[in-house]
Amino acid sequence: MAIGTGPEPGTAVARGEGPGSAEASGGGEGARVLLIEDEPGIVDFLRRGLEAEGFVVEAAMDGVEGERMALHDRFDAIVLDLMLPRRGGLEVLASVRRALPRVPVIVLSARGEIEDRVQGLDAGAFDYLVKPFSMAELVARVRAHLRTIAHASASRLNADGIEVDLMSRRVRAGGRAVTLSTTEFELLVYLMRHRGQAVSREQILSSVWGYEHDPATNVVDVYVGYLRRKLGAPGEPAPISTVRAVGYRFGGPG
Ligand code: CA
Repeated sequence: MAIGTGPEPGTAVARGEGPGSAEASGGGEGARVLLIEDEPGIVDFLRRGLEAEGFVVEAAMDGVEGERMALHDRFDAIVLDLMLPRRGGLEVLASVRRALPRVPVIVLSARGEIEDRVQGLDAGAFDYLVKPFSMAELVARVRAHLRTIAHASASRLNADGIEVDLMSRRVRAGGRAVTLSTTEFELLVYLMRHRGQAVSREQILSSVWGYEHDPATNVVDVYVGYLRRKLGAPGEPAPISTVRAVGYRFGGPG
């Protein structure tokens, strides 16, 4: 099933093969992939293989057209050959990286073609496969990159001037970096996930501190006080309101 060895597109990647198999849905459903590759046989092979996995595929046969499509249409991932007519793959890669830093680009290259040439390129959302490679490997890479992107956007909370990165646990309030203790951080995340809702002290206690806590404690009020002080600035109070006889509410109406 390697590229360049007489591909049999119909046999490309049975579902359930390869590292992406944990996702029952196939993971490709509807994601748009741009192929920039000038060899029609490879385009055909990749197109059929990716479409069989649920991806929507468009192809460009040279570097200029590929760059134009990459920059003007919305693609979830780009598969890019290095040796292309009219504009080389590395040039296309550099321009796509500048304009679309978060779109994953998977470069297809012959062995040795790329290793010494990628220095200076932002390697962030970029990966490469050395020819010959299997369809299963390409599909697995595309899926892995799409998952990483989806995970990164699911791992951020951003509301009412407060930004929380759940992975790095960094917090910003009104653009300022704020340092929180572990408990303060957990409390803020809990409140933000219930944005606009009044949550009771009991709910907060059991979710943030766990059930073993004495319900008579005023620890919630103490920590809300800490948060308000750290998140607020003169003239810009923290977006945590007291809801009388209930508890607290983050942001939302009022
Ligand atoms: Ca080529």
